[in-house]
Amino acid sequence: MSSNKATSRSLFLQSSPNRSAVSAMCRETEVIDDIRTQHTKASKLEDPHLDATVVQSTCQALHATGSCPICMYFMSEPYILECGHTACATCLRRVFERLVLKRLGTLRFESQSHDYHDQGECQVVPKTDEELVDLIGCVEAHGMNPADIFIYECPICRNESRRPPVVNVGLTDVLMDLLRSYKGQYIPEYSRELKLGDSAFQGLFLTQGVCEASGLKFRDM
Ligand SMILES: [Zn+2]
Ligand SMILES: [Zn+2]
Ligand SMILES: [Zn+2]
Repeated sequence: MSSNKATSRSLFLQSSPNRSAVSAMCRETEVIDDIRTQHTKASKLEDPHLDATVVQSTCQALHATGSCPICMYFMSEPYILECGHTACATCLRRVFERLVLKRLGTLRFESQSHDYHDQGECQVVPKTDEELVDLIGCVEAHGMNPADIFIYECPICRNESRRPPVVNVGLTDVLMDLLRSYKGQYIPEYSRELKLGDSAFQGLFLTQGVCEASGLKFRDM
């Protein structure tokens, strides 16, 4: 990754050790505070009234465009679902994990099927595709079709999807532009090759790779 890309990315996602830190960073209040601090440092505007107006309108634009419909905070990683709704990667993952756990819960009391695996093994949300492949084996041992477990509703419109959400590149660009134009920093073109969090939904979807590894028939989504 070039340092330019790193700079561009760092506006949204400064390198952080864990997802909860990322989530905390996406609060719009912090973004706004950051903008204000940066602006105070770098401001070339001399009219304090104009200065305040610029801050206010930029903050309003950021808030209107970049708020997550689930947590209402500023989105650091906007992901779009098949239905067209966009939300934070962290929020979506949390919603999907809860759904999967609820469905897996129906397997909990089928004691005989646990003969093929440890009782707790079929009650854990997979964090990687490898863990998902193992879980698929458990689900099949219970006589259930994995395709009925790993399917997700949009938390906004309830539309069902078997395809993982993808980075909302358009919105990311708009938000980057807003931040960039306001901060008055020169930041080179934002790269579309740069994917924020490739593994955001790992372990939750029956992708082609997961189906191949687990011997499931891949239904082209
Ligand atoms: Zn959110
Ligand atoms: Zn089981
Ligand atoms: Zn939707």
